[in-house]
Amino acid sequence: MYNISSELLVINEKYGLVGFKQHEGYIFYGNLCLNHKYNDIILNNELYISMFVPFTFPNELPIVKDIEKKIDNKFHKNANDVLCLACDTEIILDLKSRENATICDFIERYLLPYLYSYTYFKKYGKTPFGDRSHGSEGIIEFYKDYFKLEDIDIAFLFLEYMSLKKYRGHNLCLCGSGKKLRNCHGIKAIDLMKKVGIGNISNDYNKCVEEINYYKKLKNKKRMLEYKRMQQKKRLQYYLFPPKSPFEISIPKFYETFIKKD
Ligand SMILES: [Zn+2]
Ligand SMILES: [Zn+2]
Repeated sequence: MYNISSELLVINEKYGLVGFKQHEGYIFYGNLCLNHKYNDIILNNELYISMFVPFTFPNELPIVKDIEKKIDNKFHKNANDVLCLACDTEIILDLKSRENATICDFIERYLLPYLYSYTYFKKYGKTPFGDRSHGSEGIIEFYKDYFKLEDIDIAFLFLEYMSLKKYRGHNLCLCGSGKKLRNCHGIKAIDLMKKVGIGNISNDYNKCVEEINYYKKLKNKKRMLEYKRMQQKKRLQYYLFPPKSPFEISIPKFYETFIKKD
């Protein structure tokens, strides 16, 4: 397993973060300084953070918090001021594709670019790297790109299939090519499952389902409100323009005479 303690000194010297050992990992505190250049644009900034690095890194990712709530909520941020650096699975895949990924790799490849991107966003009103959408939309975008698919719905099918642990090489590929999985997207699926682990893929799937259900509920709620509003409007219309009572409807003449006769 990767040994974080060997990196403590380097992290402190390079980024000014001080780390302490806890029972499930290391917690770092400090002011992360940005003085970086991208496409000839130099940006400076600083962000006071806490960074929890689990012993299981890089199978599990560090959790970085914006302690002073400096990053505004319009930018990538999750609950409890946790920074949304990218799709977790994407970061794990990237780190695990490198030989012996370190915390410094994580800081250099994700944390500092995040701070750069935020600073750029505040200054120019757009992001410099063309980032993914936030939340489950961003997750699906990653799977779509990873499998080189056109369709976002098929990307979701792949995510669901992998998270249900039902991989069978002889199944037809979900992309609709008519080929067996093992001769089509299956190779990439197996590689991803091996590198990032089915647990992380399941997490992605659950996050998506949770969000889909949330929006479904929201939609239903909206529909209910809409319905109530319609009913109210109808009621109002009823008072303003009450329908004619049946007694007011004029009876054809011959009926009148018919009734009279009786
Ligand atoms: Zn985000
Ligand atoms: Zn395929």
